[in-house]
Order: sequence, then structure tokens, then C-alpha cells
Amino acid sequence: MTNKYVIAPSILSADFSRLGEEIRTCEAAGADWIHVDVMDGHFVPNLTMGPFIVEHCRRITNLPLDVHLMIEKPERYLEAFAKAGASGLTVHVETCPHLHQTLQDIKSLGCKAGVVLNPGTPVGALESVLHLADLVLVMSVNPGYSGGKFVSESFARVAEVRKRLDAIGSSAWLEVDGGINPENISRMRDSGATAFVAATAVFKHPQGTAVGIKALRDAIARVETR
Ligand code: ZN
Repeated sequence: MTNKYVIAPSILSADFSRLGEEIRTCEAAGADWIHVDVMDGHFVPNLTMGPFIVEHCRRITNLPLDVHLMIEKPERYLEAFAKAGASGLTVHVETCPHLHQTLQDIKSLGCKAGVVLNPGTPVGALESVLHLADLVLVMSVNPGYSGGKFVSESFARVAEVRKRLDAIGSSAWLEVDGGINPENISRMRDSGATAFVAATAVFKHPQGTAVGIKALRDAIARVETR
């Protein structure tokens, strides 16, 4: 069964000392994808995980692994992440001078091709590659800065991307990432988002990971029954 709206917990906020258990809990609680935030300490200040962690996740779960590459020259690592078991590879417009080629390369590796915009990048930067994208990700925080604040212009930016996707008849997922919680998720859905990355709202939920996922799912459902 495929949900119309995807919840993709970002393991960035998981307890890495028991990552396997955390991922299995997400799966049992109905998470659709596992989101892996890869940061290189150059494109973004933080430094996180590489293909090894993706490989580890692949052994634990059959859920799609949604790998978000916040790294310079991502083209150097596409094959390594694909081999590690990534289902989708999402690259930043800001890091890819040959974006059209890079998206084609991702597809030729058998992965879904995703493209992502930082909050400061005009939506128009996607125009010439939109038809190639299986997923468009709109960052709703500035990536890689811990405790980054939710960027409220993101609602309008998501709506703008939705308009452009609909205009070309694209069925690409429209994903949001950064500060997503049960309070803002329904407005994101109304703006046109279909996939929701959540880190803190899932893994740091006071009643635990499973309740965190349920709270997001309930919040999306509430919108649908209005
Ligand atoms: Zn991400």
C-alpha cells in the first residue's frame, strides 16, 4: 500500500547507538521512507554520514531510502550511494553546475532523481530540469545549521513549485524538509507538498518515535477531512 502522503523520518535525530531499533520502530509505526541527511562540512557546516550508514540502513529495512546529499560535487559520490542501497538521490541546485546531466546520471544508476532548493534559491532555478525530477525538495530551514529556524516563506515556495509541477503534468513528489511538525504539516499539505521529512518531531517526541509518526499522520488526515 502506498500512502498518498509520505512521512520520511530523518535519522539525523535518531539515537545512533540503537539505529537499527529506531528504524524498525519507524517502519512498524507506518513511516513510508527513511530520509538520510548527508552533510560534508563544506556545502553545509555540519558533517554527518556517508554511504556506510546507507548500507547499514539497507540491511535493516526494506523501506525506500531517501538520500539527501548536502555535499559539494555530489556527482563524485552518486555511484557509492546507489551501490550502498539508496532508492533516491537528491542533489542541491546550488551544488550542481551540470544539474541536467547529474539528474540523468542518478536515473541511470537506477535511483529516483531528486532536486532540492535552499530557502535563498529562486524556484525558477528548477525550470529547465523539472521534467527530469522524480522528487523536488524545498528546504524549509537553511540546511546544516543546528537549531535552524523554520522559514515561513516556505509555504509560498512550495505552492509555487506545485504550480510549476502541475503545469507540466509532473507526478514528482514534492517534499519539504526542516522544522516540520504537527502544527505546520497540514498547511504544507495545503500548499501542495506530498512528502514530509521530520527529524525532531519523530525521534524527539516526548512519548517516543511511534507516537511522533502517528501525530504527523493524524495532522495530515485532519486536513483531508475538512
Ligand atoms: Zn534532508
